[in-house]
Amino acid sequence: MAQSIVLVTGGSRGIGAAACLRAVELGHAVAVNYVHNKAAADAVVAKIEARGGAAFAIQGNVQSEADVLAIFAACDEHGQLAALVNNAGIVDYPARVDEMSAERLTRMFAVNVVGSFLCSREAVKRMSTRHGGKGGAIVNVGSAASKLGSASQYVDYAASKGAIDTMTVGLALEVADEGIRVNGIRPGIIDTDIHASGGLPDRVAKIEANLPMKRAGTADEVAKAIMWLLSEEASYTTGAILDVSGGRAILP
Ligand code: NAP
Repeated sequence: MAQSIVLVTGGSRGIGAAACLRAVELGHAVAVNYVHNKAAADAVVAKIEARGGAAFAIQGNVQSEADVLAIFAACDEHGQLAALVNNAGIVDYPARVDEMSAERLTRMFAVNVVGSFLCSREAVKRMSTRHGGKGGAIVNVGSAASKLGSASQYVDYAASKGAIDTMTVGLALEVADEGIRVNGIRPGIIDTDIHASGGLPDRVAKIEANLPMKRAGTADEVAKAIMWLLSEEASYTTGAILDVSGGRAILP
């Protein structure tokens, strides 16, 4: 029997890497997608193999349709897709909306929104019973920013994550009777490299005292929530969006 695969986009670092390491517990082989950092992806693969799991790294930029097709073709070579974590995402440097270039906005939505749509499309084609698949699960990684709006920082990012929340609800209903559950999570401030990539390497240290739990979350705390949503323990949960934010932005 072909092995089942979980694909984690942006699985080389941060929340995605933590999700890859946890995904072994579901018994799937793990497809570790990355865009630039091959060494980091290879390190995640090696850790999974050291734990007795199966994994492989796949380079590909989720904003490119050709790359997404190649990522899923590589998964097909290894087995049968059973789950997708739409995790790859970017922020940009702090800016007001009246300072944002068209290039910045296009890139933000191309990676965070179009990338998640393209990957979901390919996953549904493989997992939906409508297409002869065996069902599966999708988890979309949104952000507490979708509720906060991120004024004077990155409204574009927050709006892209709002789109992810809406995609989660709509896609969940679209495939609810096709064997696929679709859920989302909204992390709060999580201690990963993403803050430095947005020009704010000390963001976590600066904000921690103002967070409800007086600390940031860890990537593994988010990964555990992702795994629950992917697992059979969540068999009647679809279209749900779980705040994993230590109490940040839990109100609508
Ligand atoms: P991170 O540490 O910056 O890691 C980003 C990951 O995504 C890396 O594996 C990177 O690959 C990959 N990636 C970036 N652009 C990509 C693209 N175009 N195609 C494929 N892969 C790409 O980020 P993180 O903090 O773990 O965030 C993961 C997700 O959680 C994102 O969607 C983010 O918006 C969301 N989130 C994070 C926080 C937080 O505080 N950290 C809060 C809320 C939501 P390379 O290693 O090759 O660069």
